Amino acid sequence: MPDTPFLPTRPPRPTLETAEFWDACAQGRLLVPRCDDCHEYIWYPRLFCPHCASPRVTYTEVRGTGTVYSFTIMRKGNGPYKEFAPYVIAYVELDEGVRLMTNIVGVLIDDVHVGMPVKVVFDEAIPRFTVA
Ligand SMILES: [Zn+2]
Repeated sequence: MPDTPFLPTRPPRPTLETAEFWDACAQGRLLVPRCDDCHEYIWYPRLFCPHCASPRVTYTEVRGTGTVYSFTIMRKGNGPYKEFAPYVIAYVELDEGVRLMTNIVGVLIDDVHVGMPVKVVFDEAIPRFTVA
């Protein structure tokens, strides 16, 4: 099986909730919102805490390491992804506990498995993950 490829990337379209996240990604830093009151990490980014409803949420830099929580192998890509199949779509659980939908890249597809340690890599400011 081939290496999981890097994939075509469309530029992000930041919103009020995500602008700080995308700005950090462009600098190679992974930020996750964290509640100032209950201290829970929050994913996806939003302007309030889904755990305690606090509006006091602050982006916090995280290590960018975690494990593959779940994944699927896309063997027939569509549109701009068609020529890149097969590739991996995964949920990565960060060490901080939140789960991001992402791609696993730079790894032999047959080597990808649940529980695999991964670390973030920035592909044109898009956070994707590779084996740690
Ligand atoms: Zn909270």
